[in-house]
Amino acid sequence: MKLKIILKLIRNLFQKPLTVRFPHESIPIAKGYRGKHEHNMDKCVSCGLCAKICPNKAIEMVEVAGKKYPKIDLSKCCFCGLCQDICPVKALKLTQEIPQATPDPSSLIIEVDKTKLDKNP
Ligand code: SF4
Ligand code: SF4
Repeated sequence: MKLKIILKLIRNLFQKPLTVRFPHESIPIAKGYRGKHEHNMDKCVSCGLCAKICPNKAIEMVEVAGKKYPKIDLSKCCFCGLCQDICPVKALKLTQEIPQATPDPSSLIIEVDKTKLDKNP
């Protein structure tokens, strides 16, 4: 029994580790991973369906330049992807970007990007 364990230990010494040296290395993100949202304001038709379907009330429709757009609070979001699925024009996409842990909840709010509206009045 002891010999078996010793042999296993020796074999393990020459094997590649299963862990990675985070944060210098990281494992690839799985296909289909749902991370931070990306909103395409040009495509958005202000229907509000994303806010209506959100089970966590993480989306609030805010008025900017006469139209309503989703403002998303990632601190409430469970990344279910329902908002992405229901959007009729594919204006919302959950990217593979992982939201950073932060002690400041306000930094987890995705505000409507007014600068994009300035470019496309
Ligand atoms: S992913 Fe789910 S919880 Fe997050 S904003 Fe969309 S619908 Fe709401
Ligand atoms: S469901 Fe899509 S089109 Fe409708 S408000 Fe949300 S992002 Fe805009």
